[in-house]
Amino acid sequence: MVRRCSEGSMGPIDEDPRWLAFVPFHEYLLTSFPLIHSTLKLTKVNTYGLLYEWEGTDASLKPLLLAAHQDVVPVDPRTVDEWEHPPFSGYFDGQRIWGRGSSDDKSGLIGIMSSIETLLSTGFKPTRKVVLAFGFDEEVSGLFGARKLGEYMLSNFGEDAFAMIVDEGGGFSEQYGSIFAVPGVAEKGYLDVRVEIGSPGGHSSVPPDHTSIGMLSALLVHYESNPYPISIARGSPVYATLQCQAAHGSDMASSLRKEIIKSVKSDKALKKLRKTVTDDLVLRSLFGTTQAIDLISGGVKTNALPEQAWAVVNHRIATQSSVGEIKRHDTALLEHLATKFNLSYTAFGEEVYTGSGAKYGSLQISDAWGTALEPAPITPMDGEAYKLLSGTIKATFNAHRKFKNSEEIQVAPGIMTGNTGNTDTRYYWKLTQNIFRYNHHNAGSGRALGNGVHTVNESTDIDAFLEMIRFFTTLILNADESSQL
Ligand SMILES: [Zn+2]
Repeated sequence: MVRRCSEGSMGPIDEDPRWLAFVPFHEYLLTSFPLIHSTLKLTKVNTYGLLYEWEGTDASLKPLLLAAHQDVVPVDPRTVDEWEHPPFSGYFDGQRIWGRGSSDDKSGLIGIMSSIETLLSTGFKPTRKVVLAFGFDEEVSGLFGARKLGEYMLSNFGEDAFAMIVDEGGGFSEQYGSIFAVPGVAEKGYLDVRVEIGSPGGHSSVPPDHTSIGMLSALLVHYESNPYPISIARGSPVYATLQCQAAHGSDMASSLRKEIIKSVKSDKALKKLRKTVTDDLVLRSLFGTTQAIDLISGGVKTNALPEQAWAVVNHRIATQSSVGEIKRHDTALLEHLATKFNLSYTAFGEEVYTGSGAKYGSLQISDAWGTALEPAPITPMDGEAYKLLSGTIKATFNAHRKFKNSEEIQVAPGIMTGNTGNTDTRYYWKLTQNIFRYNHHNAGSGRALGNGVHTVNESTDIDAFLEMIRFFTTLILNADESSQL
């Protein structure tokens, strides 16, 4: 495993030497997967982005796109001692592979490569073209990697050119007493709102009633007193997850099960369910738009009134909402306080009228870094691509697992949970309607694949990893045989 860190604020590709870490990684791929490199066409997009094309015999079929990312998050130097095996060793102890990236997302990348190298060694020739896209800065927004790969594919393949895309994301685990696989069919959006107050400076021995910091505090308290209301759309992916869990989760409390099932037809039951969801931290984060005040700054010294104070509120936007809706909501939320404190008010570049007369100071809210992201388009949950993926997950699980006979895997569409950022697929929206964030990792137990993601002792269980490779192989074969995609 090659040492490589995704860090904030990377410089341009040809200037920042940290990018050079991918050179030995590419050499590693070249020597480890010789059949791939003698058979597939490789294009390096923006130097380190890897785009492999495996020609199919029938050019009329839309290609299958498999995605993964090469980069990993850094290891905090203060935690190196806590690792059971060195974080960049790739040490295999006979049961687990240890090291940063062993789960997120080298397992995906190497899993895809292993699957294809094996298929090539058996003489398999695809009917449907298979394309691989490996970005290299997913952990820091994918600006150099996936964005460029997306642009390249859009101009070389065109809009809606792919049958489906499968990228990192959901896995399977036990929920409500049953095993569920949850492919991500959507992702929440993102907006960081910077809230900034400006007011006259002066000596603190003659202070006004409210300083910039005091006014900012009032605004922030108002934010927290007004969480986004949760609405439960029957067409939303998370609602579909709940329906599936209610139908198949053996341990689900019968009252909750009834509430979920009844809510399909009864508005009264839907209202009750909304209350249940609102009281549950995880469910409400999945359904709704969240807000978290994550940064604050203001003031210079105790004898000077602060001329400026600011904070940043992080929003993860519900799949049924939009950046515009969040901007309008936050703008309206703070308006009466701007009036109360007699501040001019600018929201996302537009002046908000707060009455005539001279103003004491200013309130400005804005997209903090210009990185707003709309919620992803929702992949159809009743389409052929979804059916093919779902069948592939079941076939992989059933063929190789030795769970007790009654154990079955259920496939429920869902969204990526809050503990991950947005995937590279944000740059692939135009390439197909059918985007799935799923790599069949066992997310369920202490021996599962995804241990230590983004923290110490990241490691991968070898059996879980092999099952992941079987998943990719089955997916390629199923997509190859399907005439429905
Ligand atoms: Zn990842």
